Amino acid sequence: MLPFARVAIVGMGLIGSSLARAIRDAMPTVAITASDADPQVRARVSELGIADDVADTAGAAVVDADLVILCVPVGAMAAVAEQIAPDLAPHTVVSDVGSVKESVARVLAETLPGVHVIPAHPVAGTEKSGPDAGFASLFQGRWCIITPPPRADATMVERLAIFWRRLGAKVDVMDAAHHDRVLAVTSHLPHLIAYSIVGTASDLEEVTKSEVIKYSAGGFRDFTRIAASDPVMWRDVFLNNREAVLELLGRFTEDLVALQRAIRWGDGETLEALFTRTRAIRRSIISEGQDTDQPDFGRAHPDLPPGNR
Ligand code: NAP
Repeated sequence: MLPFARVAIVGMGLIGSSLARAIRDAMPTVAITASDADPQVRARVSELGIADDVADTAGAAVVDADLVILCVPVGAMAAVAEQIAPDLAPHTVVSDVGSVKESVARVLAETLPGVHVIPAHPVAGTEKSGPDAGFASLFQGRWCIITPPPRADATMVERLAIFWRRLGAKVDVMDAAHHDRVLAVTSHLPHLIAYSIVGTASDLEEVTKSEVIKYSAGGFRDFTRIAASDPVMWRDVFLNNREAVLELLGRFTEDLVALQRAIRWGDGETLEALFTRTRAIRRSIISEGQDTDQPDFGRAHPDLPPGNR
């Protein structure tokens, strides 16, 4: 049985359009209504034919929906919730895909009292934005973290979990504050570091910009992929997960200073011990199926021995 028959998606960028495509593939009889604030995005979604209907307003999109998923930047969630509030049916579940959960859960609960609000976060994405960047398999084998409020209806939570599993995701349920601390480590801090390193490299005067680009295969280019992520989305992540990120940043800064000291004092033992520990983390990520085992992230190298290509 289908967990939901009529789904409305508000925000048809990378995640919203991937969701529409994934629903089409996995649950073809589900009716999908899409909406986006940007008329060009709405026109493109109609052209792509990835939704059954494209509504001009978020309110019009959610009428009749039994599941609404907000796929807009975290800072836009409150405004969208206000727009849809008068048009929601009593049985409708309102969820979202925002990368921060505590602040989103709070604004949705405040703006939509009496509504089944069940926030969620699919931990899947790329550095691209917009409806053309989406693809149906984005959630396959990835985790979707559901963060139900304390008094959430257990049946609705289970239906949302079934929905995400049907899209190929693995589901975990946790408290919103815990989600924000975990994601600060696995996603938010790495993005901040990447933005910072790429910014520093582009500001250096003794190394020219063309040299930075020419020799980027030394490691720099892997940071540039992360640092190419959507500026609005990431601005909102840091403004909304302020406490967890600042706490972690304090810890990171201390660890960085310890490495600085090890380099200054020629303490190779400390450096080697850390680098050995970090290699083991990479091995665990591969054995959990969260990344490829191919050298250099599977980039094409025709000269690699067969089996490694
Ligand atoms: P995106 O590609 O930039 O798409 C967001 C879409 O929402 C854009 O088309 C945007 O229109 C639209 N929008 C903005 N404000 C709106 C409003 N008030 N009403 C209706 N539509 C509005 O971003 P995304 O990467 O899909 O991210 C969407 C959400 O998913 C964010 O909350 C993000 O934290 C979360 N998320 C992202 C990733 C990732 O890797 N990208 C992964 C997991 C979760 P405009 O073009 O006019 O701004």
